[in-house]
Amino acid sequence: MAGLEIREVSVRYGASTGSTRVTAVDGVSLTVAPGEVVALLGPSGCGKSSLLRAVAGLEPLAGGRVLYDGEDLAGLPVHKRRFGLMFQDGQLFPHRDVRRNVAYGLETQDLSRAERDERVTELLGLVGLAGYEQRAVPTLSGGEQQRVALARALAPRPRLLLLDEPLSALDRQLRERLAGEVRAALVETGTTAVFVTHDHAEASVVADRVGVMDRGRLLQVAAPDELRTAPASTRVAEFLGLRG
Ligand code: ADP
Repeated sequence: MAGLEIREVSVRYGASTGSTRVTAVDGVSLTVAPGEVVALLGPSGCGKSSLLRAVAGLEPLAGGRVLYDGEDLAGLPVHKRRFGLMFQDGQLFPHRDVRRNVAYGLETQDLSRAERDERVTELLGLVGLAGYEQRAVPTLSGGEQQRVALARALAPRPRLLLLDEPLSALDRQLRERLAGEVRAALVETGTTAVFVTHDHAEASVVADRVGVMDRGRLLQVAAPDELRTAPASTRVAEFLGLRG
């Protein structure tokens, strides 16, 4: 199968013999088609980040398999997966200007300086920061920093982009606007993506399909409209704020 395939994946923390062992992700299966954006939505602690980190290769699987384009990724280290990562704090290099932050992801690629500069300019345009090449990171607002982080993550054309609450540190108004812009950038670049959030409005704006998680399990995966009109359970409806 093309794209991402998560099969019965479990993630556990703590010593395997200890009574403190936590099952963070409990047998989750999910597929993400090429070019599709899927949001993982659920309350804090439900296992969203753990699942994302397991897909990235940052967390070992306690069970199940992760495949990309039909290839089992077990044993393939993080940097060889050709996945991009973006977090709540964009983790920009404060001493590099915007151009060199975005170019960072291109340094391992065989590009001439002119090609690299051209790609940086193209990406800054894509995220609404045309002309920001020489700006110093500390002079940027929180929203601008996350746009730079997105440009940097997209620069090497990852085959999958994993975003973990990338807008959560921003205020609500900005978050809603940026959610639309993140979607536009992902669609325009045809990037396959998994976007973790605890905010259902944000998930609806960003994703083609939304997977609702609760206590390590995936309760339902559906298009945002379908989730609203046909929630599979009371728990899903409650979480979307439709009941209770
Ligand atoms: P979410 O992203 O939905 O907030 P997480 O995946 O971060 O959820 O966490 C799921 C569960 O796993 C929580 O109970 C959390 O406390 C636990 N957990 C997460 N990371 C660790 C860790 N490194 N060690 C132990 N427990 C962890």
